[in-house]
Amino acid sequence: MVDYQSLLLALGVSAACLMVTLFGTWFSRRSDSFLLTLVIALFLTIGGIVAYSFYTLKAGSLGASVAYTLLMAGFSTIYSAALQFRTGMRRWRTAGLLTLVCAALGLPLMLGGLDGVGFIVMNTATATLLVETARQYWLARREAPGALMGMAILYVASGVSFLLCAAVLIAERQWRLGHAPQNWAENLNIGVCIAGMTGIGALSLALHQWRMAAHHKRESMTDPLTGLLNRRALFEEHQNRRLYPSTAVVVFDIDRFKSINDQYGHATGDEVLRTFARELSREIDSQATVARLGGEEFVMILEDTQAGRAETTARDIAARFSLQDFVAGSDVFRCTFSAGVAIGTEDGRPFEEVLGSADDAMFAAKRAGRNRVEFARHLREVNAEEDRNRA
Ligand code: GH3
Ligand code: MG
Ligand code: MG
Repeated sequence: MVDYQSLLLALGVSAACLMVTLFGTWFSRRSDSFLLTLVIALFLTIGGIVAYSFYTLKAGSLGASVAYTLLMAGFSTIYSAALQFRTGMRRWRTAGLLTLVCAALGLPLMLGGLDGVGFIVMNTATATLLVETARQYWLARREAPGALMGMAILYVASGVSFLLCAAVLIAERQWRLGHAPQNWAENLNIGVCIAGMTGIGALSLALHQWRMAAHHKRESMTDPLTGLLNRRALFEEHQNRRLYPSTAVVVFDIDRFKSINDQYGHATGDEVLRTFARELSREIDSQATVARLGGEEFVMILEDTQAGRAETTARDIAARFSLQDFVAGSDVFRCTFSAGVAIGTEDGRPFEEVLGSADDAMFAAKRAGRNRVEFARHLREVNAEEDRNRA
């Protein structure tokens, strides 16, 4: 049978390995700073395990107090890492405050000879912190359900094993011990902690990898200047679609943009693009997609709409954008754009064809003098036929 000391050593070593791995992971890309908080939490916990190990060999109220304080600091920091994961904000003050509260509750008992009650407080506080930690990961589970639900379950299991330790001490009325608690719950607790630590470590790393992959995917789909979807994202999402008459595609191209760059500089040109992107974004709701096709050309896809409404939308944007003042040094200037509208057909027209028609309509708007919205040719024919029928 493996003795308690060896189990404690195994727990300390697995925590140390996990700490080094998490530190390396955080160091290679520092944006996931909850990993650094977890590293600090593990450092404190390992300190607590070492202190507790010494205490089990040579009991004394000072040793118990040091182990207690370090373990409580470790678990408080584990909780604040979970909070940081969910909210994105550093919560080191929360960790400090929780440690202080736990110390204020337990240290007088440890130092005053009621170490049994002190261990009951420690186990209960640890169980509470671990269950709260589980709750944070559970609340954030939408981001990566498998990993986060797994972590929540392991934290709850560890929490329950601490609660059992407290329950056994209470049941056996062990208010004064003079040594580390020894019972079946303590043995179960350390086994659960070793398994939980390994599982949580593996899941934390998987979670980090998942976040990295999602981040890279988002980056590869986003236009860095405007924050809109880029051409790749647009085609990935829509290229295999067939568009029906309820879907409209509008292509926008800023008029004489090259001369804005030439006259006022590239940085001012970029500002015009960002402003235009913001105007288009105002139209985004669940029914619209906006993307930058490249250069000063943008596209909007409107779902559940008609050609007339797409045209109104384009004209509204034109009215707002053309009144926008741009400042470049002592100059103030305004810009316009030309737009082309096309819609799908009853038999379903491939996306790229509709986009091509909208692009042709946009060029027709350019030829007709710019600062206007044009319909694609087949749309004009449909409209003309409707007009003839009405007449
Ligand atoms: P038109 O009215 O016919 O559309 O004329 P235009 O000058 O707008 O069209 P053209 O296609 O000749 O010019 C587009 C310019 O957009 C050329 C290119 O240098 C500039 N451009 C492309 N991407 C960017 C960018 O990211 N930032 C800036 N500032 N300029 C860009
Ligand atoms: Mg242009
Ligand atoms: Mg252009």
